[in-house]
Amino acid sequence: MARLAGVGDVRPEPTVVRLLADRQPGVALASHWRPTSPIGFTPAAHPVADSHAAPDHGLMTAAFNLERWLSIPPLPRSRRAKPPGAGQLTTALTPHTIIRGRSLCAKDDTMPERAYLPGTSIELCNPAIPQGQIRFCLFDFDGTLSLIREGWQDVMVPMMVEVLSGTPRAESREALFGVVRDYVDRLTGKQTIYQMLQLVEEVKKRGGTPKDALAYKHDYLALLWERIQHRVADLKAGRAQPDEYLVAGSVKLLTGLRDRGVTLYLASGTDMPCVLDEAEALGLTGYFDGGIYGALDNWESFSKRMLIQDLVQRFQLRGPQFLTFGDGFVEIENCKEVGGIAVGVASDEARRSGVDEWKRNRLIGAGADMIIPDFREADALLGYLFP
Ligand SMILES: [Mg+2]
Repeated sequence: MARLAGVGDVRPEPTVVRLLADRQPGVALASHWRPTSPIGFTPAAHPVADSHAAPDHGLMTAAFNLERWLSIPPLPRSRRAKPPGAGQLTTALTPHTIIRGRSLCAKDDTMPERAYLPGTSIELCNPAIPQGQIRFCLFDFDGTLSLIREGWQDVMVPMMVEVLSGTPRAESREALFGVVRDYVDRLTGKQTIYQMLQLVEEVKKRGGTPKDALAYKHDYLALLWERIQHRVADLKAGRAQPDEYLVAGSVKLLTGLRDRGVTLYLASGTDMPCVLDEAEALGLTGYFDGGIYGALDNWESFSKRMLIQDLVQRFQLRGPQFLTFGDGFVEIENCKEVGGIAVGVASDEARRSGVDEWKRNRLIGAGADMIIPDFREADALLGYLFP
């Protein structure tokens, strides 16, 4: 097979499968769900031509996964039209056409070369980054600095699929995985409660009676805690070293920023007591002279956006004076809203090395100015930002 197109974690609508097979000889379909795969499915070359998913939903999810599989950066949310319907998707699958405004063939033919700082894996997405003005820097926590919660998606997504599959109008489990992964990804970086509020809506849509969002959040945190409690305990007891649960080079970067007089903030969508506890276990607390912020029970009283807006107003900041590091859509988008410099940390949390292509594309879609896999090249990064 010359190329492989993933239709991912739903059974695609049969018409789409036939169109693909007819128009794109040499394209194999992959539709074998494997929850542990970072892109959500195994690229096994076996066409699947049946569907139990509602056509519209199946098409939306298929489009979403095609973007992933073909490494097509999603459009920024502000420019995104409604999810594609049948007409758009089938059009997208001809050889030179468009899915959500991006050419499917661009990967092979026309996509611009990626630009890197010479001799590094630091990708420059914006060639005109203002340099030398940074005074304040905000870090996301999970996935950006801390790996303690690595794998949280593998807890949250199956839990939500379980809840939704118990509703009266539930789709197949494969289809539900697609729905859940979509909104979980979209809301990553916001407080966890937002993912739970979406779950409440999804239960209602399918004719079910949801629990309170906070109750779902507690269920999720209890499950997650089973997975990560030994990590925190090992760190506190000295059985594990902070380096084992830090994105590589974190301390070097934090030290370098402090040495340059930058005030550092840590802001997480994880609950405040956990962020404080885990930052302390990783030996990071002392770096954040600006403060450490996490989700509060009164969830409307804190957000990364509120913190950033407050900093800009309080210190009368101009955009280039503000820098953000994050691996989630939300913090990058929030940073760009105030004209700051956004560095996307496309960390591959499981392999602990290299760029996670899915994160990279999402972060570029959110407006990231640079993409880095981790902080191993902190010296080069700092040398560029502080010439
Ligand atoms: Mg994160």
